[in-house]
Amino acid sequence: MEAIKRIHHITAIVGDPNENLQFYRDVLGLRLIKQTVNFDDPGVYHLYFGDHHETPGTIITFFPWTNDNYGRKGSGQVGRIAFRVPKGSLNNWLEHLTVQNIQVETTQLFGKDTLEFDDIHGLELAIVEGNVAASNDDIFGFHGSVLLSSNPNGTKELLADLMGLKELNIEGQNHHYETTGEEKHHIVTAIPPQPGGRFGIGTVHHIAWSVPDKDVLKAWQATLMDSGFGVTEVRDRNYFNSIYLAEKGNVVFEFATDGPGFDRDEDKDALGTALKLPEQYEHRHQEYETLLPKLDI
Ligand code: ZN
Repeated sequence: MEAIKRIHHITAIVGDPNENLQFYRDVLGLRLIKQTVNFDDPGVYHLYFGDHHETPGTIITFFPWTNDNYGRKGSGQVGRIAFRVPKGSLNNWLEHLTVQNIQVETTQLFGKDTLEFDDIHGLELAIVEGNVAASNDDIFGFHGSVLLSSNPNGTKELLADLMGLKELNIEGQNHHYETTGEEKHHIVTAIPPQPGGRFGIGTVHHIAWSVPDKDVLKAWQATLMDSGFGVTEVRDRNYFNSIYLAEKGNVVFEFATDGPGFDRDEDKDALGTALKLPEQYEHRHQEYETLLPKLDI
């Protein structure tokens, strides 16, 4: 199989949808690109955010729960999610976050200066500089993420041997990998494993890896099954097709196709401005409009 080139999206569980929107749009400057529902739990929003350049490997998505059911971070989850910002902008970001009363710690988590902070619902985030300068300080996609594997060596077999991520020799206790695509997303598996986590508000649900099309997705499904993973059937996610599995460290991985894309049901300029439902829920559109909290867009 050809190596995995980049992250496709990362999906987390958060709290109130308007607080979620305010944080990612107004504090981090991302763009809401899709309002839909959780296809497996359609009474809950599924909100998608991207950057303003429609960069591949930028999409962070949320299930905003309104039930105060907080999760516990721990192994078997994706950990801290890092965004990449232009070269030379880190101090501006530190100042920007500090002005918003967000507590920031500067660490070396990703092998270079890393601003660590939490979103409004306790989801762990980070900002890391890329190698490219820009005319503004806007986030330019993901830098990568931490995986809280319960079995870092088992996770390594999948990441390095099957998915073709390159292990970097960065000093420190953690394994550190990068994807082979031009985005060079960084993946850090935290060592030693932590106690098991529980999904809920403030935790990441899964990380999805980009594959070019449905044929390659099916080839991955077969390869992963041959390697002993329990892999789902191909699921139609309307904007992409997906398979899911739990890797050996219990982190949920999804493999997702790049197409058909988010502009299949609304114009590029109008992305995220209205509730969009897949065909199977469209007949209940009015019901969901009434049920779901109104977004301040
Ligand atoms: Zn997903």
